Amino acid sequence: MPNFSLRDEVAFEAAQKFETPFHLYSERGIRRTARALRDAFGEIEDFREYFAVKALPTPAILRILREEGCGVDCASVTELMLADACGFRDGDIMFSANDVTGEEFALARRLGAYINLDDITHVDTLAKHGGVPETVCLRYNPGGAFRIGNAIMGDPGDAKYGMTREQLSQALLRLRDLGAARFGVHAFLSSNTTDPAYYPALARLLFQTGRELTGESGMPLAFVNLSGGIGIPYRPDQPETDIRAVGEGVAREYRRAFTDNGIRGVAIKTELGRYMTGPNGWLVTHIINEKRIHKHYLGLDASACDLMRPAMYGAYHHITIPGKEHLPHDRLVDVTGSLCENNDKFAVDRMLPQTAIGDLLVIHDTGAHGLSMGYNYNGKLRCKEVLWREDGGFELIRRAETPRDYFATLDVDPAWEALQARWLK
Ligand SMILES: *Cc1c(COP(=O)(O)O)cnc(C)c1O
Repeated sequence: MPNFSLRDEVAFEAAQKFETPFHLYSERGIRRTARALRDAFGEIEDFREYFAVKALPTPAILRILREEGCGVDCASVTELMLADACGFRDGDIMFSANDVTGEEFALARRLGAYINLDDITHVDTLAKHGGVPETVCLRYNPGGAFRIGNAIMGDPGDAKYGMTREQLSQALLRLRDLGAARFGVHAFLSSNTTDPAYYPALARLLFQTGRELTGESGMPLAFVNLSGGIGIPYRPDQPETDIRAVGEGVAREYRRAFTDNGIRGVAIKTELGRYMTGPNGWLVTHIINEKRIHKHYLGLDASACDLMRPAMYGAYHHITIPGKEHLPHDRLVDVTGSLCENNDKFAVDRMLPQTAIGDLLVIHDTGAHGLSMGYNYNGKLRCKEVLWREDGGFELIRRAETPRDYFATLDVDPAWEALQARWLK
């Protein structure tokens, strides 16, 4: 898949039209990724991607993905509301949440979403709130370490998600008693992995488990949900995921488990987030301060409130300086935001070219788990989102937050009147 890198002139043009900071997303990149995924799974008769809304919950993006045939994967009331507002209906929505309330189940059922049950106790919650649907999905947690060959790919034994193997059996029988007619199985065992062996190994496990559960319950397996987890190369020297190899590997397991045994009609679903939009987004900023103390710091007009991954996980995001990338990268700097929190650094000990205050600085791969993970620490307001249209134009698809947005929940406090009178007119 093309890791769509941003040409300098596009960054300059966007920054001329919109005040920084902003996340910029490529419509063309997102459409191409969706098509490449569909092509890679072309051998599977009934394949569909349900985009993980939490990665980029912006209507303009969700509508593009809907046009490309994707559904959405939601995990909260507001994500369900957003899906509904963007025209996703019934089988277009997967509800894969954990620590769920009856209220959430009821809304998901009202919108006709597939319900992916995270825990055996939720069978009864669902029966009470919204009712058990004909097709229901179960989330599996095999425990232990998830290995491919000798490599440990994930640590399900330590993860809060899903049910044990015994619970899957019990939950399914109970669901059958409550009126379910067929089922799906789901598991998420490895995050951000570019190893093309991950999905095929997961598929093999879930295909096997699904067939066992059919044997026990007499209920047909409707679908296998491979969830998210396919990774992207955040570092320029990392390889991209070979998505064709992923699709071919899953198709091989599919033939082995189903087609070769005369089993037909099992659909394959995915809930990718990062893979779909991650490389198709950039945080466009300006350098507004430069500071030399014990280290050399470049201060940006953006902060961890706009992109939290480096602060939260120490995650690497590639950084470029439009117009200066041809210069030697001979300066060792930390690139910081303005929070009173020393982890507010977009890069630590990074080699960059000579820069000046006022230079544009682009942070790459911010299209997933970027703005959506943001917060409001220090009363900082989150930035806007801009869509780089296929026709080359730019469109504001989310405005920046304002003080009015930030203070809105104080309408229960006497200070609200003063804030309104003095600052929010
Ligand atoms: C977060 C999440 C995803 C998407 O994960 P990515 O790493 O972005 O692919 C999919 N399904 C569930 C249930 C999730 O929690």
